[in-house]
Amino acid sequence: MSDHARTLLAQHARTTQLLGVDFLPLGTPPNLPPKSGDHAHHEPESSLPEPPVRSKPESTIEPKPLHDFAPTPAAPKVTLDIKIDTASIRACHESVSDPQAKLDALCGKYTADAPHAHFNTTFTNIVFGEGNPAADLMFIGEAPGEQEDQTGRPFVGRAGELLEKMIVAMGLSRESVYIANVLKTRPTNNATPTQEQANICVPYLIEQIRIINPKVIVTLGLPATHLLMGSTQPMRAMRGHFHPFPSPAFASADLDQIDLMPTYHPAFLLRAYTEDNRRKVWSDLTMVVERLGLKES
Ligand code: URA
Repeated sequence: MSDHARTLLAQHARTTQLLGVDFLPLGTPPNLPPKSGDHAHHEPESSLPEPPVRSKPESTIEPKPLHDFAPTPAAPKVTLDIKIDTASIRACHESVSDPQAKLDALCGKYTADAPHAHFNTTFTNIVFGEGNPAADLMFIGEAPGEQEDQTGRPFVGRAGELLEKMIVAMGLSRESVYIANVLKTRPTNNATPTQEQANICVPYLIEQIRIINPKVIVTLGLPATHLLMGSTQPMRAMRGHFHPFPSPAFASADLDQIDLMPTYHPAFLLRAYTEDNRRKVWSDLTMVVERLGLKES
């Protein structure tokens, strides 16, 4: 990032702070990340615990591949007797060329296939995703919550409000990015998605990514990050630098190369709204602004 771009981003952040966006940590300008080329961002260990990684007990039934992608190392043995037809998911939007029409076709395919029927018991609306269908930046969370379920829109509850503050602090608008989740329906009791559920839904997410073809993906929280990176590492080991996506787990998806930045989920940040955590998230997002070249023009 050029000095000019850094100054602009710092000015924008300061203005955003003055407008009352408290997401930005105090002393934001000095906390801008190291200059380009130095992506190894070493942060002090937080004294706050990360959200627990819930794991399912191992099944005794032999795993069956759900779809054409390699199962991630984190994937538990699969007990469901279904096979996802990734070819038909990929083909469902071939007849249209407009990206929004493609997303609509994919949403229709998702609705017809209803992969959530394999695990969901109650939900009101499918929350497929929303935003700019040609966005350079895509945020991916884990699953809709109560308000998302009621409205059919991703990230509109308290975590969504914070996400929007983060987007505004980056100098962007909610409408200019695309926001989606791994699961498109609210899990019963707001449970964290299991690897099994994520694996059932991921071919639709991969297709969503293919259509939007963003330059950068920000995964919010561990479930989305673990799924897309095919990793089980803690967030502190993954955030702070870009990872190439598709990861080996999705090599067969034949996607363009995308830079993936994991960061903490806004719901976690709300629970632990410390200067240190906000500084870490802001550092991650500033690297995304830099990678997108948003402040260079
Ligand atoms: N948390 C998520 O991961 N996604 C939403 O859409 C809302 C809350």
